[in-house]
Amino acid sequence: MTEPVINTSPRTWDEVKTTTCYMCACRCGIKVYLKDGTVKYIEGNRDHPVNKGVICGKGASGIKQHYSPARLSKPLMRVGERGSGEFREVEWEEALRTATLWLSEIRNKDPRSCPSAKVRCNYHTDLITKKAIRDIKSVRKGPFYVQIDYEAPHDGATSGNNAEPPSRYIGTARRTPFRKLPGFNERDISDKPKLIRRTAKRLTPREFKGLKKRYRKQLEALRGVDDSVGRIIRTLKKENELGNTYIFFQSDNGYFLGEHRYSKSKFLAYEPSVRVPMAVRGPIAKEGRVSHAIVSNVDLAATITNLAHTDPRLATDGRSFKPLLRRPGHRGNRAVLLESYLYPSGPLDAHLDKTRPFVTGDQSKAGGSAGGASASGATASSSAPPLNYSAIRTGNYKYIEYADGGRELYDLKADRYELHNKVHSKRYRKVYRYLEDQLDKRRFCDGAECRKGVRHIPYVKPKPKKKHHKHHKHKKHKHQKGQTGGASS
Ligand code: SF4
Repeated sequence: MTEPVINTSPRTWDEVKTTTCYMCACRCGIKVYLKDGTVKYIEGNRDHPVNKGVICGKGASGIKQHYSPARLSKPLMRVGERGSGEFREVEWEEALRTATLWLSEIRNKDPRSCPSAKVRCNYHTDLITKKAIRDIKSVRKGPFYVQIDYEAPHDGATSGNNAEPPSRYIGTARRTPFRKLPGFNERDISDKPKLIRRTAKRLTPREFKGLKKRYRKQLEALRGVDDSVGRIIRTLKKENELGNTYIFFQSDNGYFLGEHRYSKSKFLAYEPSVRVPMAVRGPIAKEGRVSHAIVSNVDLAATITNLAHTDPRLATDGRSFKPLLRRPGHRGNRAVLLESYLYPSGPLDAHLDKTRPFVTGDQSKAGGSAGGASASGATASSSAPPLNYSAIRTGNYKYIEYADGGRELYDLKADRYELHNKVHSKRYRKVYRYLEDQLDKRRFCDGAECRKGVRHIPYVKPKPKKKHHKHHKHKKHKHQKGQTGGASS
């Protein structure tokens, strides 16, 4: 009797196709075994130059893409609440139509090819540049004045606390390093007034992450502004107006990015919030010259009317900085007032009652909502709070008075990051008294009073140099590091 022959390796396929795996971008060579037109299994193709017969588990399970019962054979449309798991099957046409509709708003508003002339660009920066260019081109003869107020890099209406960059620049600054300046997450704020000490909490790692993202979004949004400035310059050149046009480029405020523990916002009189660069281009402004003189945005009207040989008709609070364009090395004696009033403010109410009777209940509401923090600053928040203060910035100094009596004095030549409040220092006592008096005289000033420069700021004797032994020097170095390297996150 003979044993039946059992084929232990029956052929399970009738056709083998060589192709590449599409389960990831490696595109390994595979052999697909089929029987009656159905995939039976997949193995690596030994003759393929990339994977030489090796495939991963994911590649081998590619078969499931075709036959798994859990496989989606049709697109699903959510019909219930988000998260409720209720869907209905739709046809591919309907799915594509819906996706196209959702994306059409973005595509119509801000396609990536903006600001090309061939597409519609409704992104705010591009749109107002287009309108400005149209206005410049429409000038037939004579002088013209165009003011373009870009919203970028301000927080966008729909982007939370971040700027909204044009779609063509989204993600372009995601690897730009964030530089922590001295004063970032300031370690010791015991020299600051009570109001500041109460509102400024050390930044958490989460806030630090958020402000880095905010910084990068601001850079990306500014790239759109950069494009726009280029387009305006090119238009002026084409119209033969560049040679006799003045361009002033500036911002209305700065922004805290971790300095003095504030991860966002402005409002306070510290340098990151109040100091912004101003760039001027024009016939008498020589390329590449830098002036360190103090000017303010209230000086713009006076400067522009001066350059245009016209009369502003009203007494301006600002003064022309035309002389600085000729002599940028000249420091001048400008004193600039910095003021913030969040109602109710005793001194400001009294002043307005005396002068202009237009204070209404509405204004107190408007002030109260600014920045979303209370006047007392009692909210523990890393957003710089709007507080009642007035300050004067002149020479090397800044002197700030808060409504609750808090005072700050900074010598910006010796301490540009405002880490050491000198208001209680004996060496600076005369400067303090002088600036206190100047601020009192100029508070609520008007016209010529505001334009008056300061004279004879008291001299502060430099600190006598101490002789250090070697190990003392070492100690001092360590101490300084602790003061300025305040970042903890
Ligand atoms: S076999 Fe694996 S590694 Fe190769 S393409 Fe497929 S999924 Fe990618």
